[in-house]
Parts: sequence; C-alpha cells; structure tokens
Amino acid sequence: MKSKKYILALDQGTTSSRSILFDRKGEICSLAQREFRQHYPRPGWVEHDPLEIWESQLATAREAIDKLGAQPEEIAAVGITNQRETTVVWDAATGAPVYNAIVWQCRRTADRVKLIWDAGKKDAVQDVTGLIADAYFSASKLEWILDNVPGARERAERGELRFGTVDSWLIWNLTGGAVHATDYTNASRTMLFDIHKLDWDRGLLDYFRIPRVMLPRVLPSGCVYGETQVLGGSIPIAGVAGDQQASLFGQCCFDPGDVKNTYGTGCFMLMNTGTEAVLSRQGLLTTTAAVCAGEKPQYALEGSVFIAGAAIQWLRDELGLVATAPESEQCCRAVEDTGGVYVVPAFSGLGAPYWEPYARGTVVGLTRGTSRNHFVRATVESLAYQSNDLLVAMKKASGLPLRALRVDGGASANDFLMQFQADLSAAAILRPASVETTALGAAYLAGLSVGFWPDRDALRANARAGREFLPALPEEQRIARLRGWGRAVRCAVAWAQEEPEEA
Ligand code: ADP
Repeated sequence: MKSKKYILALDQGTTSSRSILFDRKGEICSLAQREFRQHYPRPGWVEHDPLEIWESQLATAREAIDKLGAQPEEIAAVGITNQRETTVVWDAATGAPVYNAIVWQCRRTADRVKLIWDAGKKDAVQDVTGLIADAYFSASKLEWILDNVPGARERAERGELRFGTVDSWLIWNLTGGAVHATDYTNASRTMLFDIHKLDWDRGLLDYFRIPRVMLPRVLPSGCVYGETQVLGGSIPIAGVAGDQQASLFGQCCFDPGDVKNTYGTGCFMLMNTGTEAVLSRQGLLTTTAAVCAGEKPQYALEGSVFIAGAAIQWLRDELGLVATAPESEQCCRAVEDTGGVYVVPAFSGLGAPYWEPYARGTVVGLTRGTSRNHFVRATVESLAYQSNDLLVAMKKASGLPLRALRVDGGASANDFLMQFQADLSAAAILRPASVETTALGAAYLAGLSVGFWPDRDALRANARAGREFLPALPEEQRIARLRGWGRAVRCAVAWAQEEPEEA
C-alpha cells in the first residue's frame, strides 16, 4: 500500500460531475469539475442525458489525474458518490440508454404515486422501504420508462435491459459492462428495496411490474465492486454511496446519535441510529447508512428543510434586501435580536415534523420599528429553527442523545447562523475545515475497503479541526424563542387549513 498515494472520488451531482484525488490525510490534491445540461421537456419534468453524465464524469476523472501527473498505479481505489434516485435504463448488450435519465426532482409520476396514498398503502410502503411514498424515488420513474418507451417492457421481460441509479450506471461503464451492481444506500432510495432484509422487495416489484432480472446486485457500500477499464491501469472500485449517506460518512458520523446537517438550497439532516432502523411517522425517512463488507448494517433517520439557503436567495433576488448571501451575516450582527419578528419560509409547504403541504410563507410580529436588519435576521434564523425542528423530531423518534451536530454546505459559512444554531439546539456545532464531505465520504469508504486507511480511527484523526460553536444562550431565553417560533408555525398552518372562500 506504500506505493499507493491517492484515492480517486467520483462525485456525480445533479448539475455537475466532479472528480477529486485525496491523499492519506484526506487532503484534496487535485480537482476537476464539469457542468452538464439539464433538460426540461415539460413543466415539472427534469431529465439528464446518461451519456453526458458518463462522459463528463470520465473527462473530469482523467483531468484530475492528468493535472497532478498521477500514475494509475498510484491510485489505491475509486470511490463513487452520486445524486440519488435518478433513474437510468440501458441495453445490456450495447450499453445504450433507452431513454434519458429521469432526475430525482422530476414530478411526472406524482399522480401515479398519489394512487398509493389513496389506496391507503402509504404505511405499508414505509414499513418495508423506510420511505414516504413519493415521485422522488426511482420506482415510479422506472415504471414510467417501461410503460412509455416503445417496446421497453417486452425487452425488459426478455432480460435485455438493465436498470440502475447513477452509481450503477457509472460502475457499468467504468468496468466496460462487466459489473451491474449498486450499494445499500442507493438501493434504499429506489422504493423497491427492503431495508430490513437488504434485498429487493417482491411485493413492490410486482406492484410496479418491474422484472427482477433488470435490477443490479446490491452490495455493502465499502467493498470491491470491480476494476476500472478506462483510466489507464485497472483500479478497484471499492466504495459507493448516495450523496447524503456519503456526507454522513465523510463527516465521521459513525456512531449512534451522530448527526450531520448540510445547509444548502435546502437542508439535509441525517442521524446515525446504529443497527436499529428507527421508524417515524412524522415525516422523517428511514434509510441505510454506509458500512463496509463484513460489518453489521447501519441505519439513519433523514429529514429535509425544503427552503433554507433558498430563503437567503429570496432576500437577495426577490426582495433586494441584501446584495449577496454572505452580506446577510452583517445584517444579523447589526441588531440585537429580531425585535419579535419570525419569518416562516414555508414557500412550498412545511416538511417534517409538521407535514403541511398547503402551508405558505408567513411573517409575524411586525411593528413600526421593524427594520431591514430585523427582517433579514429573522430569515437567517429560520434556517436554524427549521433544522432544530428536525433535530428534535430525530431525538424523539430514536430516543438517542445528540452527540454532536456536524455541519457543511454553503450557508454553514455563516458564523452567526452557526452560533444561533448552537444556542437554539443547546448543542455543540462542529464545522470541519474542509466542507467537501460528500466526496471525502466516498473516498473513505473506498480507502477503508482496500486498506489504504487501517480503520475509522485513522479517518477521525484526519478530521482537521475547523471551528466549534458552543451554546451560550440562557435556557429561559432559548425556550422563549422556541415558543415564539412554534406560534409562528401555527400561524402558517392555520393559513393552510382555513377553507378559501368560493369565488
Ligand atoms: P446547493 O448545493 O444546494 O446548491 P450550496 O451548498 O452551494 O447549495 O449553498 C448555497 C446556498 O447557501 C444558497 O442558497 C445561498 O443563499 C446560501 N448561502 C451561501 N452563503 C451564505 C451565507 N454566508 N449566509 C447565508 N446563506 C448563505
């Protein structure tokens, strides 16, 4: 292993493909990135060209290697992390996709999934898959392709087609068509996978009329999947995980009660719940966490805030209250508090734990003295309140004490927000020096599998101290603020529940 210097992480995201070479300290040695096209054939529909996904990914991998002048023999392993749920179907003989990739955001099958709710089957689906039935997940997208691409269903039944999430599609191409596989974390986002038995669920396959022969083999996230055929020498592909689970791993959330929150356009929070799959009917999803071969399966609770950084964009682009997102921090610091104002940015409904799709954005507590700074601060604070709601729901569902909240994503750069989160959640917030936690997670899985790193302690030792934010708000003030937020949310919910008058 001494001659091996690097791990190559392929990070296939929704808008770009990136490749990063990490060294043994987990430091970035080389990075290449390419954006690719988004296709919107109809309102609410989102597609990618699978060949463009593959070609952009391969090009960035070669570019990252070339930039550094690295030799293939110096790369110990390849790790893959990817946009989850996005669905690709291709011909097993030629490798040609039969249709564009249907992207996780695509809503074309929303009416189809509503039938599951109408038939009262929602809880049964959640019991098996851990998911709240939705068009996000791959199942209805795959069914749509089989129903709408001429001849697809017959070809699938004859065993001529393969299905995969983006990880499978990349593995297939990297191995020259030799390997058709996925990992537990990606499989758990298809809504076809039994997360308790760790196998495809016959009942759901029958319900969506999916021939089993087209499905990939499901393996632990950390194990050798095959060898690359396209990067010069052959390098083992040894780590695979969906983006959020990869980031949980990259943040070293290995133990029950470890939580990470990514503050991006929305927030994605995952709590490691250890070997127990905790079920929540409060709008949280249960999903598999990444483990290596030979280890017991691990699970996580997952929740999301729909509007987080997007609320800051709204302040900037629609209201013109700030010129840039980082400027919001100065506004927050210019006032002592929000002057009693709460902004609930429920622009597209409220997610967990309220689950009120018809709620809309609500501002309460305005007075004649309310200033721009108060308003901006209340909006920034809403990211922390919404994240805290998820955290409280996770603690309640799992019964686990919070160990630490690890953060990443664009808005985690806001020190005011991080301190406010620590105050509100009465928890230490840990922000790592490098926020490339998703790619790092894929690299860690691959590196552990091939012995590039001996164990998890070596990974923990890598975690360069970034910044820690400790709670400092007196308890009675914390309670008072949370109570105010609760009242504001009730206003947003009441707005949704009031019958609109007939015109
Ligand atoms: P995504 O991956 O979802 O595109 P990023 O992780 O790149 O998101 O984060 C960008 C988001 O974070 C934007 O919505 C932006 O408004 C917000 N953001 C960036 N910097 C700050 C900041 N200093 N304070 C508050 N919000 C910020």
